[in-house]
Amino acid sequence: MRLIRFGEKGKERPGLLRGDGIVDLTRIFRDIPDITAAFFEQGWFERIKTADAPAEKREVRLGPPLAGPSKIICLGKNYADHAREGGFEAPEKPILFSKAPSALNGPNDPIVLPLGSRQVDWEVELAVVIGKRCKRVDAADAFSCVAGVTVMNDVSGRDAQFGDGQWFRGKSFDGFAPLGPAVVTLDEVDDIDNLELNAFVDGVCMQTGNTRNLIFKIPFMIEYICRDMTLMPGDVISTGTPSGVGIFREPPVLLQPGSVVECRIEGIGTLVNPVIGQ
Ligand code: ZN
Repeated sequence: MRLIRFGEKGKERPGLLRGDGIVDLTRIFRDIPDITAAFFEQGWFERIKTADAPAEKREVRLGPPLAGPSKIICLGKNYADHAREGGFEAPEKPILFSKAPSALNGPNDPIVLPLGSRQVDWEVELAVVIGKRCKRVDAADAFSCVAGVTVMNDVSGRDAQFGDGQWFRGKSFDGFAPLGPAVVTLDEVDDIDNLELNAFVDGVCMQTGNTRNLIFKIPFMIEYICRDMTLMPGDVISTGTPSGVGIFREPPVLLQPGSVVECRIEGIGTLVNPVIGQ
């Protein structure tokens, strides 16, 4: 199942991607809510598995495939090659930081360059979407808390990120969290520990990685986070980025008005976001 939200910004409706068509879930389930924590808590994630309607081919805007998560948690330096390119040791414990949920952006929406950064950079990441409330869940049971996975571009304003002493502002400018195109349930994922990730800028491949090289794996991340912090349905855990970000290149490459960033994970989906000025 590939769960999406589609329609105008702020008025998205839940749907499913099937092949190259869309199933409008609001036509099947009149009272279906938007894909928020309540969607999962009220059992809709289970109910929509019974949706038996033909997909229609439609030209629609896709929104981020969930709305209003209580948290977007990110892992820093979770690929050894990315830690190394920044001149850091691989971490001994997960480095957690967060992006404001208001930074969420659609999979094809523009990334608007903010006033507060002149060094806007990309990070392709596999993102995990939590499907139920969980606390003190062991790694062995962690996947039972997962609704699915999707693609995140952890867009970063490097001057703000490194200049502020902590990362929240530089990671949270509006539109800095393109997510999607769909939440892909785990039964559609061949091997979550062997997914190739790529980021392209203007068609040039900048990042190549594989989830087999994650330092801290998804079950451990979930156990570690929810030991003392409740994970809510709809929360997002973005698992970190491989090497090849712009700021550590020689010379640095930064996003400019007119750039197009493409973040792709095999079997999961692709984000294509144009970059525009204010
Ligand atoms: Zn990141």
